[in-house]
Formats: sequence, C-alpha cells, structure tokens
Amino acid sequence: APGSFDAFRTIDLRGTHLSTAELRAAMPRSTTSSFESVASRVEDIIVAVRSRGFDALSELAQRFDGVEQFHPRVPAEALSEALRALSPDVRAALEESIDRARVFALAQKPQDVVVEIRPGAALTQRWVPVGRVGLYVPGGLAVLASSVIMNVVPAQAAGVQSIALASPPQKEFGGLPHPVILAAAELLGVKEVYGIGGAQAIAAFAHGVSGEEDRNAIEPVDVVTGPGNIYVATAKRLVKGMVGIDAEAGTTEIAVLADGTAQPRLVAADLISQAEHDPNAASVLITPSVELAAAVRAELSIQAKSTRHRERVETALGGPQSGTILVDNIDHGIAVCDAYAAEHLEIHTDQAPAVAARIKNAGAIFVGDYSPVSLGDYCAGSNHVLPTAGTAAFASGLSVFTFLRAMQVIDYSADALREVSEHVVQLAQAEDLPGHGDAVRVRFS
Ligand code: NAD
Repeated sequence: APGSFDAFRTIDLRGTHLSTAELRAAMPRSTTSSFESVASRVEDIIVAVRSRGFDALSELAQRFDGVEQFHPRVPAEALSEALRALSPDVRAALEESIDRARVFALAQKPQDVVVEIRPGAALTQRWVPVGRVGLYVPGGLAVLASSVIMNVVPAQAAGVQSIALASPPQKEFGGLPHPVILAAAELLGVKEVYGIGGAQAIAAFAHGVSGEEDRNAIEPVDVVTGPGNIYVATAKRLVKGMVGIDAEAGTTEIAVLADGTAQPRLVAADLISQAEHDPNAASVLITPSVELAAAVRAELSIQAKSTRHRERVETALGGPQSGTILVDNIDHGIAVCDAYAAEHLEIHTDQAPAVAARIKNAGAIFVGDYSPVSLGDYCAGSNHVLPTAGTAAFASGLSVFTFLRAMQVIDYSADALREVSEHVVQLAQAEDLPGHGDAVRVRFS
C-alpha cells in the first residue's frame, strides 16, 4: 500500500499471556546471523591463528580484507601522521567525546572496601586492574573510530598498563586500519596498534602470536573487549574463559518502546540509524498504539528512500530480526522489553523516566525525545559497547568494571583467629578434612 513499508513485519502479542520463556521465543531474531550458524568457521580461524601465527594472519588479511601483509603492527610514524592529517573538526569532536567518556568512566571507579568484621579480623575488597588488554575496533562495513574511545577510555581509567588495539586493515589505506582510527589511538596515547580484523584479531590477542625472525611477537592479553559483527562476537564467546571478555557486543539492535504520544518521525529516524550499521542489525518497535505503528511504518518508507545506506537499511528493516511488536499496554510493553533485552532501548512514552526506571533488561536505556541512540554512539559520555542478542539479561556494557577484578585480602590477628578457631575445626571435621582443622590448631599449641 502507498505510504507503508511492507517489509517491516508485525508480531501481534495483544491478548496473549505468555510466560517469560515463551515471550523470549516470540522475539524477532536473525536466523542466519547467530553463534550457531558461524561457530565452526570461526573456530577454524582461531585454530589457524593459534597453530600458524603470522602466516595465518597474512592469509586471512588477504582473504577477508584484500591486503598483502607481512606484519600487522602499525608503525609509530603512521599513527602520528594520521593525527597530523586529521581535520580539525573531527579532532574537536573526538576530543569532546573523549572528555565526556572520561568524566563518566573516572566517576565509575569503585572504592576499596575495608571492614573489621570482629576486633582484629580485617577484610578488604581491593579493586585491581588487569595487566594487559586487547581492544577491537570494527572496520568492515563502517569504520568506527568512536569505538577506539569507547574501549580505551575505560581501560585507561581503570589503570590498565598495557593496551593493544586491533582493527581491520584497509586496502585503500595501504593495508593499515582507517586513518581516523589511527588518529584516535594516537590522541589517546595508544602506541600498540595492529591491522587485524574479525575473529583473527580476537584469536591473536587471546592466544598471542609467537615471534619469528623479523616478526615481533604479539603478547597474549588478559581481557579482550570491543564491538564487532557476528564473527567477532562469536570469536569472543569461543575464547572466553581463557581470557576475559566484556560482553558479546555483536550486531547492533535498537528497541523503541513508544505510545501514542511518541513522534513517528523521530522513532523512524532512530530505527534507521541502527539499521544503517549492518544488514543483520535489528530495529524493533514495541507499542500498544496501532496508529503509531502505522505512522512509523509510513515514516520508515519515506526516510529509508533518502538515506545513504538505503540497501543495507532496507535489508535490516525487512529481516526477521526487525519489526513492530503490538502489545496491550505499557505494562505489557515493559514485559516484552525485558524479554527482548535490547542492546539499546529508547523510551518514547508519557512519563518516560518513570517507565525507564521499571526496565530490568537492556544494555543501555535512552530516555525521551532528546536522548537518541546516536548521541550514545558518539558523545553522550556513556559507552556504546553493549551486550546484544538477549545477553543484556545477564551482561553489562563496557565500563571500568570490565577491566577490574575485586581481590579479597584477609588479615586476622592471633586473637581474632583464636576466637573463631573452634568453628573452623568443627566445619573441617564435618567435611572430613581434619588437616584444615590441624592447620589452625598448630598455631596455638
Ligand atoms: P568488523 O570489523 O566487526 O568485521 C569485519 C571483519 O569481519 C573482516 O575484517 C573479516 O575479518 C570478518 N569477516 C567478514 N566476513 C567474514 C566471513 N564470511 N567469515 C569470517 N570472517 C569474516 O566490521 P563490520 O562488519 O562493519 O561490523 C561491525 C559490527 O559491529 C556491526 O555489526 C555493528 O552492528 C557492530 N557494533 C556493535 C556494537 C555493540 O556494542 N554491540 C557497537 C558498535 C558496532
């Protein structure tokens, strides 16, 4: 029909009473872009990098990025030259973004907890940064210089000493990552930068790459972070446990919870802005208002026509991962939002702050007409590296906590130990581990 955008499908949940598990199963999700669909290909890439090091990285750079590469390390001169050549306007924008992100990241830093739970029984929870991190910056369909900031600023605020960064090598830039990415790294003082893309970058960081004659090693890291497409997100899941990861910050998603008071033009623009990232990106409208749903659909068809990445946007909006979910009312909408657990959730309703306060599962919440996701992508001060594919039900976005561990320190005096020693002995006997009890007794005999 004229004025409608037919590919944007509708899931009508009005009048249904689904359990949480049933609601989750009813959510729109991609069928072709999932962990299961790419895991074996990604596993092959990880094994290749682990077993054949730089030779495998060279082959993969040739295959996926079309570049000839002997060693992926970006020379120091290329970093400083990129910053020199950066336009002043972009530099000013990067600096503003860094400044806001740094204020928020530093404010997140937790205090150590020191408690004397009984006289002479001191316990401390000490926050300690990890030693070395590998940060990934996307550079496939889009080159996300903003992701340099989102990764590096919290790592630095946490106090991480060794920071390495990787982004896909670009054919049109002599096999180096995009110059704005290099400039952003230089601006932040990150010197160890590699032109490596996708799953192979995650593998190189997690396992390290042994040095050879003329090829300096890449030291393994403790934590790998950063956003990326399904190959990057899957590689992170596969190396998790051997190294820490942030969250599975995979293919982007936006959900908008809106009622009849929402402005269709703004809602549609925000749905398009995330669809622009990836043909597999998800744009979901959750609303009790059939009128609003129709108006947004009409706006989508108008705005999509004139957007720069029209084909990608229309593919994303038309995919099984996108569409409108009709709900009974805002309470029902909140339950659907929690079941979907969107990476980005915008609230365009009456009393938006109160509605936002009731949401339990989302990577980040954007409240009202003047907090669009694209503000958060660049300059809000919040982090844009956020959990996707429903993982916001248990995972958090990137922050200083991603790079910190809480270490417990136990310091008892003789009197404090004596006071509790009989309880230790009793529990040791109950577990048939008498050596545990003896280890306490020996101190007092
Ligand atoms: P990317 O850097 O993530 O991926 C490019 C790399 O993917 C290539 O270098 C290649 O190595 C690999 N690749 C491509 N096709 C492959 C194949 N068939 N098999 C194996 N590997 C392959 O860049 P991109 O593709 O532009 O993706 C960026 C992604 O990051 C988007 O999906 C975007 O939505 C997402 N993103 C997510 C967040 C978040 O926080 N969740 C934030 C920003 C961006």
